[in-house]
Amino acid sequence: MSKLPNTPASIFSVMSKLANQHKAINLSQGFPNFDVDSRLLEISTRLLNENVHQYTPMAGVPSLLNKIALLTEKGYQRKIDTSSEVLITTGATQGIYTVITAFINSGDEVIILDPSYDSYEPSVMVAGGKPIRISLNEDYSPNFNRIASAITVNTKMIIVNNPHNPTGKIWTEQDFEDFETLLEKYPQILILSDEVYEYISFKHPHISVNTRPKLRDRAIIASSFGKSLHVTGWKVGYLIAPEHLMSEIKKIHQFLVFSVNSISQHVISEYLDIVDFSEVSQMYQKKRLLFQDLLKGSKFEILPSEGTYFQVVNYSEVSNKNDMDFATELITKYGVAAIPISVFYEDGTDKKMLRFCFAKTDETLIAAAEKLITI
Ligand code: PMP
Ligand code: GLN
Repeated sequence: MSKLPNTPASIFSVMSKLANQHKAINLSQGFPNFDVDSRLLEISTRLLNENVHQYTPMAGVPSLLNKIALLTEKGYQRKIDTSSEVLITTGATQGIYTVITAFINSGDEVIILDPSYDSYEPSVMVAGGKPIRISLNEDYSPNFNRIASAITVNTKMIIVNNPHNPTGKIWTEQDFEDFETLLEKYPQILILSDEVYEYISFKHPHISVNTRPKLRDRAIIASSFGKSLHVTGWKVGYLIAPEHLMSEIKKIHQFLVFSVNSISQHVISEYLDIVDFSEVSQMYQKKRLLFQDLLKGSKFEILPSEGTYFQVVNYSEVSNKNDMDFATELITKYGVAAIPISVFYEDGTDKKMLRFCFAKTDETLIAAAEKLITI
């Protein structure tokens, strides 16, 4: 019997495949198409000739763990113990899956805020848990009344994704205070905080759960070097969690992957000495403004994008089609690929929204916009 009888192929594979088949400009799946930093390539080439080819310690290369600790202290004023509170993972995807596998038992409920990233629900279901999907507000901020009503004695975990994929929404200080007040009554609930876009914020700075003493002792934070360093194919991420949680996560991790690709870990460790994460938001801010500017002449309504490298648009002025059909037409007829937002809702809520990824060269964004403004 299938563990995931109704789970289709990931929308990211579906749309990228269709984009390739039709030679469309691919603004669907979230990955950069600009060159990787030449300094990162130089380190990679050099280290390939060194002794970096065998298993690393299970939790990760020690120098990389140290650098993550430094980064966390510098960025979020949180001191972490590298021997017990950080784990390198094969991308955030494996981190998230491992966390859910470690803590979710049959019948445990996990609150997921819709629209939600596609890997959460299936990971909960494979663990035998029950995904409880709650809609965010109209403006994609969290609705704490709805979350409170969804909490039961079986609630084991809440998954928070901030900055948010697909909408780009960022939690405010008030959101965090409301969340903390709500959770005070439920000390047993764990938080899985997916912060893979932590370095991409435009409107106001990203607030990490790392900076929230009231939350972090029961939280697991997922990050992704794929996103932060523009190398999504390297599939290296990490988790931060207090020891009492991390020890359980490591038990699963050691039998799922044991240790993550050694070369990328060594390269990233060295690269972290020279990379400046404050440049990431600046670089994407330029691309965001360029893309928004280019679309101004179009019939698409541009929604706020506070963070991440995604821009959601409403296309009701352009078509009555449902978002999957319209996204397909956009590829086959107009040569641009986007992600339909309805797939991120449990009930397929279709508000005629598409997500475009603007982590692309200016030339790509200009070429895509030229097609989009003709519609
Ligand atoms: N969470 C979110 C919200 C994402 O957008 C992604 C895609 N990068 C992931 C997790 C998975 O990250 P990774 O590619 O590092 O597995
Ligand atoms: N996170 C990427 C996105 O949202 C896709 C990752 C994947 O393809 N699984 O587009």
